[in-house]
Amino acid sequence: MVNRCGACGQDTLGRNWTFENRPGEVFCDSCANGPRCYDCGGPSGRAWVFDDGRKQCDRCRSSSVLDKSSVLALANVILDFMHSSLRMSLSPLPEIHLASLDQIRAAFETPRPDAAGICIIKSGSHPTILVPYGMARLPLATLLTHELAHVWVFQNARTKLAISSIAHEGFCEWVAWQTAIGCFRSQTEANKIAKKDGRYGTWFRAMASLHTSIPAIDIPILVSHEDSRIPRAVLKDSGKVTSVHGLGVGIFKIGRDKGCCNILIENPYASRTHSSVQVEARGTAYLRDLGSRNGTKVNGRDARSSALRPGDTIQLGSTSLIFDSVARPV
Ligand SMILES: [Zn+2]
Ligand SMILES: [Zn+2]
Ligand SMILES: [Zn+2]
Repeated sequence: MVNRCGACGQDTLGRNWTFENRPGEVFCDSCANGPRCYDCGGPSGRAWVFDDGRKQCDRCRSSSVLDKSSVLALANVILDFMHSSLRMSLSPLPEIHLASLDQIRAAFETPRPDAAGICIIKSGSHPTILVPYGMARLPLATLLTHELAHVWVFQNARTKLAISSIAHEGFCEWVAWQTAIGCFRSQTEANKIAKKDGRYGTWFRAMASLHTSIPAIDIPILVSHEDSRIPRAVLKDSGKVTSVHGLGVGIFKIGRDKGCCNILIENPYASRTHSSVQVEARGTAYLRDLGSRNGTKVNGRDARSSALRPGDTIQLGSTSLIFDSVARPV
């Protein structure tokens, strides 16, 4: 069987390279080892080249956003979602411009040679966002959402999110992650955010595990979409549902300690930090008992650590917690 390379269309001669953000495609040796697309990271093949040096594959080129009205239309889709699903409203709205990477990087006060976009906020003047022209629609949406979230933080939550500026980056990544899943139904974009290395990835993961425990950020967790699957924990006391927690990527501590537990339970048999549920980017989840006095049971059996499946019941004294999931897109 002949496999055609996703970049050049030639026979891959059985080498069949694959790339994470290009599901369903295979590539030949020479394309796999050639230049990469700025937007998806896959082989760019014959490569469209922008004047700031970015290369782009045919696939990304097909959804390339090249003019101002298209980027504003995309921003409106994102702003609608932020408003209706995350309860984040921006006022005044920022100005949004397409620019070259060189222009974007030159707009920072201290040079940022790796920057992909910028949100310029100075008191007394209109917030302005610069994003690269020509990016593919979905990666651009992620970048734009991140910058719009910066504007929201500046306008609404500077005091509520009294945390370091790099933690703001984690929050903006979290908003982009929610939007990738809830608005654009793109697991590929969501995974790119969740798996990032370095400070952005670290702070995204911290933020994803924190957001259930920061009541000051008045943002509901995205939990219901008919055709998607998002892990959640349904807390029951003596058989009655007392609360439902949407679980993002991260570690959620369960116990009596208000200071450090994401899911609080009030029963005398529970320890201060009793157990934890860890949710990974792929949606797999694990329970760990954190050395509790009375132990944790999963489906009636004592468990120190256990993989969790939708429908599993976690028992902590008289409190039970059903691990299940609601819709999430593929
Ligand atoms: Zn090829
Ligand atoms: Zn691409
Ligand atoms: Zn940022």
